[in-house]
Amino acid sequence: MARRSADPRLDTYLAKRDFAITSEPAGTPKGRGGTTPPGPGPRFVVQQHDATRMHYDFRLEVDGVLPSWAVPKGPSYDPTEKRLAVRTEDHPLDYAGFEGVIPHGEYGGGPVIVWDAGIYHNLTSGRRGEVRPMAEALERGHVKVWLEGEKLQGAWALTRMSRDGNEWLMVKVKDVTADADRDPVADETRSVLSGRTVQEMGADRSAPTWHSNRAS
Ligand code: MN
Repeated sequence: MARRSADPRLDTYLAKRDFAITSEPAGTPKGRGGTTPPGPGPRFVVQQHDATRMHYDFRLEVDGVLPSWAVPKGPSYDPTEKRLAVRTEDHPLDYAGFEGVIPHGEYGGGPVIVWDAGIYHNLTSGRRGEVRPMAEALERGHVKVWLEGEKLQGAWALTRMSRDGNEWLMVKVKDVTADADRDPVADETRSVLSGRTVQEMGADRSAPTWHSNRAS
């Protein structure tokens, strides 16, 4: 009998990690049990990750995986702030509920917290004003999403800077939620899952790993 093959979109994610050592999810393509999580929309998550450099991993649920970007400065509410967002490997859906400490020496070693989480709506429009499907929008290098998180609410746009590059810009869309004075990266530092800061997570040498598969 042939083994069920893994989702090829997760090959890079799986190749980079030793699941005998790290407690990160080993990644069934559509979450545990192959079910789509319940909820009013696809998920997004922002994980603060104190690895070689501090960054915020922004991930959107698209067709059963989590396309991802590493955002060094994190998201901004100021529409004049262009935040670098480096596209990284797609992550498994289970990853949206992961926080804990990735062991030193492993890929991405360091503490991770779920800094924000929720659902999103795709606002990306095509040439005739129709909604462009997320997979196609990513391929073309421009997505606009309305986030409904605990810290992030409103529309953000992600735009690839060059055709073949991994560097994108994440910018707050000028809408009713835009607010240059609001800075959740500086002012709202705790995990929406555990209430811990990433520093508190990292300081706990015996830190267990939390997993949550809740929809938001
Ligand atoms: Mn990361």
